[in-house]
Amino acid sequence: MWNIEDSLELYGIENWGNGYFSINDKGNIVIVPNKDRSQSVDAMDLIEEIERSNDLEFPVLLRFPQILEDRINEITGAFLGAIGEFSYNGTYQPIFPMKVNQRKEVIEYIIKYGEKYRIGLEVGTKAELLAALSLGLPKEALLICNGYKDEDYLRLALSIHNVNNIIIVVDLFEEIHNILRYAEQMGVTPRIGMRLKLFARGSGRWVESGGESAKFGLSTSEALELMRILREKGLLDSLKMIHFHIGSQITDIRTIKNAMNEAARIYAKARKVAHIEYLNVGGGLSVDYNGSNTATPSSSNYTLQEYANDVVYTVQKICEEEEVACPTIVSESGRAIAAYHSMLIFKVIGRKNSKDSLLRAPREEDPIQIDDLCSAFKEINIDNYKEHYHDALQYRDELYDSFNLGNIGLEERAKGETLFWLVCKKAAFLAKQAEDESDEFQELKKLVSQKYIGNFSLFQSVPDMWGVEQIFPTIPLHRLNEMPSERGRIVDITCDSDGEIKRYAGDSEGREYLEMHTLMESEDYYMGIFLLGAYQDTLGDFHNLLGSAHEVHVMAEGGEWYICQKVEGDTCRKLLDFFNYETKDYIWEIMDRCVAKKECIHKKELEQIEAELNRTLKGYTYFITKPNGHSKGKDAENVCGVMKL
Ligand SMILES: *Cc1c(COP(=O)(O)O)cnc(C)c1O
Repeated sequence: MWNIEDSLELYGIENWGNGYFSINDKGNIVIVPNKDRSQSVDAMDLIEEIERSNDLEFPVLLRFPQILEDRINEITGAFLGAIGEFSYNGTYQPIFPMKVNQRKEVIEYIIKYGEKYRIGLEVGTKAELLAALSLGLPKEALLICNGYKDEDYLRLALSIHNVNNIIIVVDLFEEIHNILRYAEQMGVTPRIGMRLKLFARGSGRWVESGGESAKFGLSTSEALELMRILREKGLLDSLKMIHFHIGSQITDIRTIKNAMNEAARIYAKARKVAHIEYLNVGGGLSVDYNGSNTATPSSSNYTLQEYANDVVYTVQKICEEEEVACPTIVSESGRAIAAYHSMLIFKVIGRKNSKDSLLRAPREEDPIQIDDLCSAFKEINIDNYKEHYHDALQYRDELYDSFNLGNIGLEERAKGETLFWLVCKKAAFLAKQAEDESDEFQELKKLVSQKYIGNFSLFQSVPDMWGVEQIFPTIPLHRLNEMPSERGRIVDITCDSDGEIKRYAGDSEGREYLEMHTLMESEDYYMGIFLLGAYQDTLGDFHNLLGSAHEVHVMAEGGEWYICQKVEGDTCRKLLDFFNYETKDYIWEIMDRCVAKKECIHKKELEQIEAELNRTLKGYTYFITKPNGHSKGKDAENVCGVMKL
């Protein structure tokens, strides 16, 4: 008997979930935002609540602010733990890099939950700086300015840098001249950091962020020159921070060790000359999206504690060797803080290629190949599936020949295709049972796997799945106490063939197919895509004019859960406005045009057009379904007197 343990294993939930997700006795996914099982959220209860309140359609993005809190606690805890263990003579401060998720609500949660650790922000553009300034960071929290900085950016940062605790990081050598010039003009003493190009490079997808050819950072000679300039101006004390960032999602711990060694050594040498307070180790702490615990691109071969230990230990050791004071360690783990806190819920609204849905009963006058295909379907079993499959291929070819010669009609052709398809499905199933790994049957399995249409946009909600082929766990949210009897892939509702989830969590390479349950007429099938909190919110685009999804923020407390915030997603009107279609007078213009194009138009017809325009403009950009109310592809019926698979 299939049970929830089997589902936990099949979908690898405990491998990628970091303790935030599990399955309850009802077979539903539960979210455990603070890892305390007594405070969990049954995904299906939540879905029911959303359906009942009847104000938001699916897809819906869920956010769990408490997961952000827990991540901040865990990451800071790991560093503080390492500091204790190695008796490190300094402290640690976390930073959240805004580019990972600029959504105001998200940053507000992070600032609130990180306040006790003086969590700060890192910004990379003017707009991000403006956003950060609006959020009332406490004075002790750092605000780090990175990126390409023009005059406006620098002047803004300098003007307010004593109100906020701003450090301007020199990412490109030339910037130092502008910083010093504006600071002098404005009569302020800047606080400066310098970003270093390390020789050690990242590994994995973002390898180009580090190494000698990196886009940002100073070479050793530039760093020396910068210090020389500062000394000359009597501003060496302005140099507060040494920073490096070798890329995101560093999946191999060796890379981190190498970079830390190099950076700590540079810090120590520079510390002998200038009173540098902070060593900022950047981001890169990876998230094990596929749960494989390997150095493959969507995974990670180390734990958070290992990471923190390596950072703290290396700095400690090198500072001791070089006999310099230990810096305050700063890290900018964006992905690791934000990834877990959000997930997308969508409904499966149908299947593609359900070629088996229309089978008519065989008739006397049908060509012989139809009979043969029917027999093949009846007789195929684990011992003879190869033979029967090969026979079926031949019958199908013969049928096509007959059709091309004009000997049979469309109806016979259709019947033959459907039967052939059923034989294929059964053969693939038997090949799987027989653990047949031959190319032929691997291909066949691919061919017969279903495509399920998910009501979401991959480009809007999971852009990295498309852009960098990253894996995000995607699984059914219910019926997990039931054996999944189908396998398939999820496609989204964009008209783009790339809008398909091609890899599923479960092993290091990513599985090609997802095990799913047979869709039922009477019940919606809900799925979730997990770990979407980092980078996906603002990288998402408006392909096919599908807009941002509705959001529901959920808290769990005292054995209960509640929705603490709802944020409405985009309407069609908002999308049109965004792309410069004026929607203010839209309806009137269309109506005018209708009148102009048609000499005599009834008032009733006009009213109808107006009503439909109005409703669609105001509506959600996604496919709108009523709960339980949509039709789905029918399963293969009782064919040739043999039960379906
Ligand atoms: C992108 C970025 C980060 C965040 O990296 P993660 O791998 O998401 O933690 C940190 N620091 C800088 C300078 C960045 O550009």
